[in-house]
Amino acid sequence: MSDIKTEETIDKTSNGSPKPTSPNSDLKLDFASFWEYSPAPESSDFVEIDEKYNHFINGEFVEPVKGRYMKSINPATEEVLCEFAEGTSEDVDKAVKAARKAYEKTWSKLSGNERGKYIFRIARMIQERARELAIIESIDGGKPIRESRDVDVPLSAAYFFYYAGWADKLNYAFPGRKPKSLGVCGQIIPWNFPLLMLAWKIAPALATGNTVVLKPAESTPVTALKFAEICRDAGLPDGVVNIVTGAGQTGSEIVNHPDVNKIAFTGSTNVGKIIQKSLAGTDKKFTLELGGKGPNIVFEDAPLDQTVEGIVNAIFFNQGHVCCAGSRLLVQEGIAERLIQKLKDRMETLIVGDPLDKNTDIGAINSKAQFERIQNYLEIGVNEGAEIHQSSCQIPENGYFCRPTIFTNVSQSNRVVQEEIFGPVLTIQTFRTPDEAIEKANNTPYGLASGVWTDKGSKIFKVGQSVRSGVMWSNTYNKFDPTSPFGGYKESGIGREGGLHGLYPYIKF
Ligand code: NAD
Repeated sequence: MSDIKTEETIDKTSNGSPKPTSPNSDLKLDFASFWEYSPAPESSDFVEIDEKYNHFINGEFVEPVKGRYMKSINPATEEVLCEFAEGTSEDVDKAVKAARKAYEKTWSKLSGNERGKYIFRIARMIQERARELAIIESIDGGKPIRESRDVDVPLSAAYFFYYAGWADKLNYAFPGRKPKSLGVCGQIIPWNFPLLMLAWKIAPALATGNTVVLKPAESTPVTALKFAEICRDAGLPDGVVNIVTGAGQTGSEIVNHPDVNKIAFTGSTNVGKIIQKSLAGTDKKFTLELGGKGPNIVFEDAPLDQTVEGIVNAIFFNQGHVCCAGSRLLVQEGIAERLIQKLKDRMETLIVGDPLDKNTDIGAINSKAQFERIQNYLEIGVNEGAEIHQSSCQIPENGYFCRPTIFTNVSQSNRVVQEEIFGPVLTIQTFRTPDEAIEKANNTPYGLASGVWTDKGSKIFKVGQSVRSGVMWSNTYNKFDPTSPFGGYKESGIGREGGLHGLYPYIKF
């Protein structure tokens, strides 16, 4: 980074995160002096994480055929949390066979009412184990306990409750048609919302009468294995849910297994393209929930203070590891200076640190690889001529932590504007007219989510009709509900999850 031009000279902290040496000299208020909180750590004493986890196949935990294991790292401490099985083609085959048998002998024979009872029971058991699951999600993935406790786990239960309700009402969901299940569903999920993405996938699959082989991401396998315990304890018939752990190769074995009827994938656009190519010419159904680069559009009639909260939520929620993050701020020119100053002030109050501390706003970056990827993008942005600004907060010596960051003075063609960074990094551009905002909002390969902030319903409708994005929030951001469909346009994916729409990918007529 020797020849980088920046707003401030950048040096590096112990973990390599660029840090302003004279942070925010323009600030008039000394936030640090009055926003100090005593530590409020969530106790994790009662949580049991085994040293080694096996696959969950046919209702029991079984060792991997080849006996290979991988490690899951706690990203806040860089310590090994546990080992978990690395799935090979043999393991995937066993899981698919178990799922097929369960589909043919049991699950597809049950009435919707009976299936619904099991799914309701799973939802209630997630609620019963909510605190434990939230703590594990934070330890394994680095997200702040406030978010795993208040968002990930309650929403996961809510998705199971919601789809449990559909199980015996499918004929009403599709009046005059006779929906039938597909068979065995292969499901592959990412690391940013491990339990929630599992819920998005497994709940509608079971409600519609399918059985499942699911692979969690290699950096966050533990809550999926705890979920396997829940399935077992709920008395779910053997083989209805199978969890096979491993990395990309294991996912690929699931995608290419000849006896899988449907693939549901959430992850990066690059891997989504590989999967789509593999599925071409087969009769497997598929849904792809991929990346995003969400525009968050602020008009000059927006209420600025609420908007700043919305911007913070849009980009810094879950360290910015959010496919639908509002990672591109588009601000109308007349208010840009004031809004950016307010945002910088607010960024100074954000607490970055221990994911298990209830005061923490921004936890650990999920993995070393993702941390390095974000650092690389920070350098790319600076080299492209952008001005970088980071909050001056303290960050822990160990672990993967990144200060909340904004880039100003960017242009539409910059890589930091076009590419998904998947970290707490916001680019800021200005616009003069609604048409210019729409033009800029649509000018990336993605089309997953967006936001608009204004006092005028007419502007919301204009932007809503013109911005190509699967979800649009107005005067709020990152609100999720099981009844609402979610999915992308363009390179953000194919198909919808959630709501009534989320049943379609799991049925045929
Ligand atoms: P990733 O694509 O690297 O991995 C996702 C999953 O796919 C992991 O379980 C991984 O092991 C597996 N995988 C990797 N290579 C594979 C292959 N060749 N075949 C089959 N499976 C394979 O993505 P990630 O880094 O884990 O997740 C981040 C990405 O997920 C971001 O791009 C984000 O935008 C996206 N995401 C999208 C949504 C959505 O709903 N659209 C939601 C969450 C995350």
